[in-house]
Amino acid sequence: MSQNTAGSCLCGAVRFEVEGDFERFYLCHCARCRKDTGSAHAANLFSSSARLHWRSGQENVRSFGLPGTRHRRSFCAVCGSALPDLQMNGELLVVPAGSLDTPLALAPDAHIFTASRADWDHELQRIPSLARAPS
Ligand SMILES: [Zn+2]
Ligand SMILES: [Zn+2]
Repeated sequence: MSQNTAGSCLCGAVRFEVEGDFERFYLCHCARCRKDTGSAHAANLFSSSARLHWRSGQENVRSFGLPGTRHRRSFCAVCGSALPDLQMNGELLVVPAGSLDTPLALAPDAHIFTASRADWDHELQRIPSLARAPS
């Protein structure tokens, strides 16, 4: 059974739906994903069969491919949020998990490229977890 997944960017200008299933869910710690997300890792869902439908704001979607590499990302031109991107000549749909607004019944398959993880990205499960902002 296929799941329908919906998402949007932070400012709400861009909305999309994904029709179909995801095959892989990776947390990528490579240096390019760290740069492009500004965080410890990217969190991307991958599908070779699902279809992407832009529901609003498609004119605000921009894409960037790093020259000489296969690293690509799409983002909102207004707020910069990560958005779905079609890669490998349209054969692979990559959806940033953080862009989704509907529940996701999947857990990540793996951390990948951990050999490239940030030097502060070690044993993060050991630091305090606060349910809200620090006081
Ligand atoms: Zn936006
Ligand atoms: Zn990466």
